Amino acid sequence: MKLSDIGEFGLIDRIAALFHQSRPGCIEGIGDDCAVLEMKDGLTALLVTTDLLIDPIHFIRDKTPPRLLGRKALAVNLSDIAAMGGSPWGFFLSIAVPASINLEYIDAFMLGLHDRATEFNAVLLGGDTTRSAEHFAINITILGTSQLTQIKRRIGAKPGDVIQVSGPIGSSSAGLKMLLESKNPGVFEPLLMAHLDPYPRIATGQALARIDSVSAMIDISDGLLQDLGHICTRSGVGADIAFEAIPRDSLIDACARWCDESMESWILSGGEDYELLWTVSADAADRALDVARASGANRAVSIGTITAQPGIRVNRDGNPLDTGRMGWDHFRYT
Ligand code: ADP
Ligand code: MG
Repeated sequence: MKLSDIGEFGLIDRIAALFHQSRPGCIEGIGDDCAVLEMKDGLTALLVTTDLLIDPIHFIRDKTPPRLLGRKALAVNLSDIAAMGGSPWGFFLSIAVPASINLEYIDAFMLGLHDRATEFNAVLLGGDTTRSAEHFAINITILGTSQLTQIKRRIGAKPGDVIQVSGPIGSSSAGLKMLLESKNPGVFEPLLMAHLDPYPRIATGQALARIDSVSAMIDISDGLLQDLGHICTRSGVGADIAFEAIPRDSLIDACARWCDESMESWILSGGEDYELLWTVSADAADRALDVARASGANRAVSIGTITAQPGIRVNRDGNPLDTGRMGWDHFRYT
């Protein structure tokens, strides 16, 4: 059997099965956006998460402005803190760099990191630096905090809960397509920027964390269906989604036609939008939207309902949509 037969999540499951043990104080280990550790005061949670970005899998060095790469490297980690409703505290930065790289590139990358670190109040705590043979690789481990009682996890969604998202989905995939094909984005520049410079929804995550009726939350890094699927699997539920309710950038339809791509697949299975997706009991759904919008996610909307029946069904104008390939898996789709 090959790795591509079981995919990224099959591999993670195998690793998790081997390192099965836990210990007191570990509220959440493998399986959520962050690990959650209970602090000695019994009130505070320490959130920890790590992400690896490698050229040319996650970015293409000569197509990615280094300052934006630095901003994105921290943003994708901040987004996992946002998904738990936490506040960033500090981070470790490890880089593997080819010796031939221009110092200007590294300096600009660091400035980008510094932008997002300052904006979100995360201090650099340490890291590691090594030479790589050819490719630039970046690993960030970020720490955050939250009140234990306010943490939002992937587990917790209940049948009847409303599914909501914080903003437009699919834009990043459109931007990636233009980047890969070296298309001049022209009027579609905002879609390219959605891919290059995603915004971590820290304030929205924190605001939603204060609402008890918000039952589960995740950030959309691997695609809407994939990430909603994580909530459904962990919560033992399913979902009905109304495709037309999913917010999308007003440019995306025209961009998909221009690129000869499927706008539906960008929205349902494209990744890297870093919007939040959460579930909330029906009686608190309007309040959750108000709170999310007031926190800056002004296009937050409801897109569907959690069901007892497993699986995710997407309807468009009342008809079922064939969802086919769902989300991003590092080893299955090359
Ligand atoms: P995210 O997209 O939020 O970063 P992932 O889907 O990448 O999360 O990972 C799912 C879970 O699996 C997370 O809890 C992550 O910490 C864990 N995980 C991923 N890769 C490994 C690994 N190699 N060893 C242990 N845990 C892992
Ligand atoms: Mg995540």
